[in-house]
Amino acid sequence: MSRELRVISNVPKPRQPKPDWLKIRLGDPTNQNHVLKLIEGLNLHTVCQEARCPNIFECWSDRTATFMLGGDICTRHCGFCAVGKGAPGSLDPQEPRHVAEAVQHLNLAHTVITSVNRDDLPDGGAAHWAETVREVRALNPSCRIEVLIPDFNGDEAALNTVLDAQPDVLNHNTETIARLYRRVRPDADYQQSLTLLRRAADRRDREARGMLTKSGIMVGLGEEFDEVVELMKDLRASSCDIMTIGQYLQPHARRLPVERYVTPEEFERWREVGMELGFKHVESSPLTRSSYHARQQAESPAENAALLEA
Ligand code: SF4
Repeated sequence: MSRELRVISNVPKPRQPKPDWLKIRLGDPTNQNHVLKLIEGLNLHTVCQEARCPNIFECWSDRTATFMLGGDICTRHCGFCAVGKGAPGSLDPQEPRHVAEAVQHLNLAHTVITSVNRDDLPDGGAAHWAETVREVRALNPSCRIEVLIPDFNGDEAALNTVLDAQPDVLNHNTETIARLYRRVRPDADYQQSLTLLRRAADRRDREARGMLTKSGIMVGLGEEFDEVVELMKDLRASSCDIMTIGQYLQPHARRLPVERYVTPEEFERWREVGMELGFKHVESSPLTRSSYHARQQAESPAENAALLEA
């Protein structure tokens, strides 16, 4: 299959009629294929492709992508996620350097890096994470680095390994409300994710540095409006600074169905509630994803002030 067609094939196929507000822009194919060539040439993976993100045309047209460390096979079985599941291969020792080179080539002012879960590794891949942050910073000293990390099974030492590398934004998604964990994230634990965010914020505060913490969810999986508000309160109690809320889209038939399409007005109400609860920024819209407009999120006035305190 040609490179061009492989980009196109990442668009989720509609399985029920989607409302107009979920229409996507096709963007600039030249830039999209430039990004694809770069990713393939450096033997990297992106969550844009593996998770079949609906924003891939827009983001890649803008020459930005979210790099995914640790290969393209995940050790967990989340009900929403399109990433392949099974037994992953060994880590690519060149990957940290290659991510740094891709960031440099794309001239990114803000990069988002994530990974598959690597529960097969003793440290969950934390050392690989830290090396990547250091390589990216060494080659791109002015680039803001956002890490979207797994829960490391609650291993505080693994979390500290990543924090030692001093990312600018520590992102960990709860993905859904507490009640839906068994169905949506069967291998994860809601409280464990809150604890991770709490620990990251506590360490940031102890060391008086300007790192922001961030979390996000998908809606449309069966949650009620007030359950999302309860989650927001839990995140604020864990000193979380930024929250993202976006519409869940079924990536293929073997993943959880969409229970409902949330209206833009309801997203806006959550955004308003979140700001009242004290988040520095809430990105809430149908096509919001953790990394969607991440640079703009981190450039909002309140967040800039927090980073400048660093
Ligand atoms: S929103 Fe994030 S995952 Fe989706 S295409 Fe953009 S950078 Fe990639």
